[in-house]
Amino acid sequence: MSTTLQQQTLHEHDDDEPPIPDNHVSHTLKQHPPLPPFQWRDWRTEITWAPLVLLVSTPLIAAVGACYTPLRWQTALFSVFYYYVTGLGITAGYHRLWSHRSYNASVPLQYALAMAGAGAVEGSIKWWSSKHRAHHRYTDTPLDPYDATAGFYHSHIGWLLVKPRTKPGFADIKDLSKDDVVKWQLRWYLTLTLAMGFALPTVVPWLAWGDAKGGYVYAAMMRLVFVHHSTFCVNSLAHWLGAASFDDKHTPRDHLITALVSIGEGYHNFHHQFPSDYRNAIRWYQYDPTKWFISACERVGLATQLRRFGENEVRKGRWSMRVKGLRKEQEGLAWPSGAEALPVVGWDAFQEQARTRPLVLVSGFIHDLTPFLDAHPGGRRLLVKMVGKDATTAFFGGVYEHSNAAHNLLAMHRVSILHGGHPHAADEKFVPPAQRLRIVRHDEWTTNPPRDEFIRSDD
Ligand SMILES: [Zn+2]
Ligand SMILES: [Zn+2]
Repeated sequence: MSTTLQQQTLHEHDDDEPPIPDNHVSHTLKQHPPLPPFQWRDWRTEITWAPLVLLVSTPLIAAVGACYTPLRWQTALFSVFYYYVTGLGITAGYHRLWSHRSYNASVPLQYALAMAGAGAVEGSIKWWSSKHRAHHRYTDTPLDPYDATAGFYHSHIGWLLVKPRTKPGFADIKDLSKDDVVKWQLRWYLTLTLAMGFALPTVVPWLAWGDAKGGYVYAAMMRLVFVHHSTFCVNSLAHWLGAASFDDKHTPRDHLITALVSIGEGYHNFHHQFPSDYRNAIRWYQYDPTKWFISACERVGLATQLRRFGENEVRKGRWSMRVKGLRKEQEGLAWPSGAEALPVVGWDAFQEQARTRPLVLVSGFIHDLTPFLDAHPGGRRLLVKMVGKDATTAFFGGVYEHSNAAHNLLAMHRVSILHGGHPHAADEKFVPPAQRLRIVRHDEWTTNPPRDEFIRSDD
């Protein structure tokens, strides 16, 4: 009975849900084809005017205003301080709290971050976070609102200035639609933006040290330019400059410079791999003031449940990239021929060939030492004495206990293998030291045994 019910439920479910496509991005793009590229002849309708006016006017007012307004040290300090306040509203609030839910914030902290974030004039929490969630879900595809593969300019600012060519991919923001603070900020967004973005940074220097004009030019306008481009750099610079320390499937990169200009958001490769981690930088010496701020909030009881991704998986990511680097280095080196690639010769043929060339047998391999005779650090005479002979014992301590480098070099002179030669030599004598550990891809795991154990000696 219950099985039948379960089957029915499953069956009904199957009917309701459309089948999952092989690739969500290409499926979506087929259903909603992108608009044609931006054309200047349609500029009136194609440009998104509000961001354009804001992003062009603020640097202009700041630059012109700075020429006519002396910078007082109190205003300078306050501007930097207020840059961090509004910047943290974005990084600790909009980004790590609301977009990624990487920690829980107390109600007073949520309101403070919502107000500080409004002072950065980058849209509401709901708008910003929906774009950012789509950015993570569809990274490096046309469904990513600031797709880094569309170029530095597009990901930095271009995506804001003209109508998107593709509708950004769907991102679930149900939690934000129900969030009281997010709803409050959206309702009062314009008031909060004018108050926090422009009025407060003008009024504080005016009332405190009589510098309203300086406050407006430096703490409001110029600070705004810096906060804007600081955030924009996370979408552009952080997908362009630095190392793929944890994964190289997509464009995000880790770099100190990006961290310095973005209040610690520059360890972006880590962040895209472990987005629900409240940290961007995981080392104590890396610059991540946003992480320090969240930790400080935890210490005074304003934040709880700071999420960290499992250390083992974080280390695994870093390890994979290191191994990949080593594999690349390995592929750039010349390696000796293996037994499978060499001709097999019998003892008599070896003797015959050794009359015309300085051939020496070591660990079942026959080596042609012609290019090495005069370069041998132990002198030519010792080598000549061994021509046509088995020098295994002499090489491995009988005459001299050769270095690993000598063993590696010897293997580079292999020309053939002696029929039945291998079983007489132990593994460490026929596998050169540099080849005892190797990086092997999963599809190369099939064991590659020495050629029929060097044509067994007992056959
Ligand atoms: Zn990103
Ligand atoms: Zn993010």
